[in-house]
Amino acid sequence: MKWTKVEVPTNSRTQFIDITSIVAAELAKTGVKNGTCSVYMPHTTAGLTINENADPDVARDIVAGLARLVPVTGDYRHAEGNSDAHIKASLMGFSLMVPIIDGRLALGTWQALYFCEFDGPRHRNVLVGITSE
Ligand code: ZN
Repeated sequence: MKWTKVEVPTNSRTQFIDITSIVAAELAKTGVKNGTCSVYMPHTTAGLTINENADPDVARDIVAGLARLVPVTGDYRHAEGNSDAHIKASLMGFSLMVPIIDGRLALGTWQALYFCEFDGPRHRNVLVGITSE
C-alpha cells in the first residue's frame, strides 16, 4: 500500500476539520477504481471520525458533548496538562477505513471524514493509504 502524508494545520484548541476532499484528492491521484482507503492519525491528542457534514451543528454538538464527558480539568496526573485531549482522541480513534467503489469514496449521503483536533493549534498531518483490490 502506498501511504501519503497530508498536512492538516489547525487553528484552535478544539476543532473538527472536514478532510473528505483532501482524502478524495489523494484517491483521485492513484486512479484506483475499487479497493480500500485508509486514513491514519499519527498523533495522540487528535483523532479521526466519520459523521454528518450537512448540518455543521452536528460537529459542534459532538465537540460540546465530548467537552461534557471529558472536562479540561479533573483528576488527571499527566504532567503535560492535556489529558482531556488524549482521552477525547482515544474516544474518536486513530484510523478510518472507507471502501472505494467506482473510483469514489463510498461514503453515505451525509457522511464526511473529520480530523478532530483536541490540543491545537498545531501543525498536524494524517497518512492516507490507498489499496487496489
Ligand atoms: Zn500530553
